[in-house]
Amino acid sequence: MTAAFIRVYDSYWYVLGEEVRQFEQEFSAFNQVSNTVGVANGLDALVLALQVLGIGPGDEVIVPSNTYIATWLAVTHVGAMPVPVEPEPSTSNLDPTLVAKAITPRSRVIMPVHLYGQACRMTEIMALAAQHSLYVVEDNAQAQGAAFAGRLTGSFGHVNGTSFYPGKNLGALGDAGAVTTNDAELARRVQVLRNYGSQQKYYNEVTGYNSRLDELQAALLRIKLQQLPDWTRQRQQVATWYNQHLADIEALRLPAIAEGATHVYHLYVVHTAHRDALQQHLMGQGIGTMIHYPVPPHLQKAYANLDLPAGKFPIAEKLAATCLSLPMWPGMTEEHVAIVAAGIRSFELQILSK
Ligand SMILES: *Cc1c(COP(=O)(O)O)cnc(C)c1O
Repeated sequence: MTAAFIRVYDSYWYVLGEEVRQFEQEFSAFNQVSNTVGVANGLDALVLALQVLGIGPGDEVIVPSNTYIATWLAVTHVGAMPVPVEPEPSTSNLDPTLVAKAITPRSRVIMPVHLYGQACRMTEIMALAAQHSLYVVEDNAQAQGAAFAGRLTGSFGHVNGTSFYPGKNLGALGDAGAVTTNDAELARRVQVLRNYGSQQKYYNEVTGYNSRLDELQAALLRIKLQQLPDWTRQRQQVATWYNQHLADIEALRLPAIAEGATHVYHLYVVHTAHRDALQQHLMGQGIGTMIHYPVPPHLQKAYANLDLPAGKFPIAEKLAATCLSLPMWPGMTEEHVAIVAAGIRSFELQILSK
């Protein structure tokens, strides 16, 4: 890491250079796509993906009702309308049968989010898109390395976005993101848009953005990318331990995996009706947990204008009220897992005794 830092420091070239080019190639190889375009963050990756597809006012984009708000923000930032679709309660991922029902003559794009690191049922989603001449833009921010039917997330859609926010499975030491696509022309258009709409300096073809990837982040990401498969295996091992240690706890619903999908456990999320009390109880034992996410996008103040009242998306609302992300990191030991499990078990005893 320090060597990479010094290499970039000494190069006197800090934005969009050789490190970015190398990282883009290496990430393409990892993700089994022909093109990666590094950008400033995951939200920009999604915005630029929609923009190069020509999505804008009057267009509808199918999004999950339960996702991080960035997915919806990308849609509204290009002026299009998010059309929320409920997830399967078991996996928290987009339900393809409900996607089919949400398609209208204005639909242009389906945006699956591989939530918590589990691949969506992409075979059905791609078939629906083909049948209705829709684009697919995967939000792959949480699932680098996950697969459906043997194919990697981020390689199905026409153009896809991912994030290297520090907390993601592949994290930079700051903000970073990328667009992945098998379409060279779409990749070229993202390259132009990320850099002021310019291919040749000071000549601007379109009104672009400044959404460039730093050389330093790219150099660090190149090193971390080599370790990602190993970190993913460690996350999956931790999940296996959790599944074993928590199997007999009645009040807890463990993560379910759809047939054909793999899960890279960006998060290990359980569900319980006693979520808030459990979180407090664990906190009292020094075990920190998080909630992803407490408020679904349609109930955020930011989207009050969409007029989607409470009760409109009951599955998303229930998942938001019951989800709890347990500690999960590569290198977490079975001992750690056992401590968390014991904390949950002592909570269960407390509830049962009431
Ligand atoms: C993190 C995240 C994003 C946005 O990524 P940033 O790099 O933070 O902009 C988008 N979608 C999902 C599902 C995410 O988890």
